[in-house]
Amino acid sequence: MVVNVEVVKMQAKVAETIALLEQANNEYGSSLVFACSFGAEDVVMIDLISKHAPSIQVVTLDTGRLPQATYNVMDACREKYHLELKVYCPDAAEVEAMVCESGLNLFYQSVEKRKQCCEIRKIHPLKRALSGKQAWITGVRREQADSRLDMTAVEDDAHFGLKKFNPLIEWTESEVWDYIRSNDVPYNALHDQHYPSIGCEPCSRSITVGEDPRSGRWWWEREDGVAECGLHASPLKKP
Ligand code: SF4
Repeated sequence: MVVNVEVVKMQAKVAETIALLEQANNEYGSSLVFACSFGAEDVVMIDLISKHAPSIQVVTLDTGRLPQATYNVMDACREKYHLELKVYCPDAAEVEAMVCESGLNLFYQSVEKRKQCCEIRKIHPLKRALSGKQAWITGVRREQADSRLDMTAVEDDAHFGLKKFNPLIEWTESEVWDYIRSNDVPYNALHDQHYPSIGCEPCSRSITVGEDPRSGRWWWEREDGVAECGLHASPLKKP
């Protein structure tokens, strides 16, 4: 019998990921959430959670500036997995004050204003989503950015004061796509237009061959070395 080493390797990786999800669920139960952005990694997580730990709560942030393709994959996942998705939106008064003072496209004006927009549209809703929780799950992978090189599968997230589980931390991009295709997982159509990383519509773009995948986000700031929105850029300690 011929054994396909790559298939066996992938099966082992999936089994490890499922084991970590089950561990997180057993340890934290209703105090655990998966924060989902519906990128390629996150739809893999949705599929795994739905099949192996369906009681894990799934939350997402609707910043008010997401591409239509993201709303489409959100609905496709709701339908396929009967997902009870909790959607967190920014505080309307905060958004109104911000756009009245600086305009709707303030993020192009300066790094500070981009951070202000991310703070109001993403960080504040995420804090509400994580409020009262003890642990959260993300779909981040190590190879996505230099700032993620030191991340581990289980960490203490000092910024949010929670345990943080990163079950896909060791996965490669090709493993993510193999999983999506072999499990018929719905995914964001923008990935087919060469968007490696999809966030808000005005802050995401397609890239060409050889470009750093993170250059698809906040590309106008690249000389400043900024490539994170604050959700995963906090100082992290290993447990
Ligand atoms: S990604 Fe862009 S539009 Fe979205 S919250 Fe951050 S600055 Fe605002």
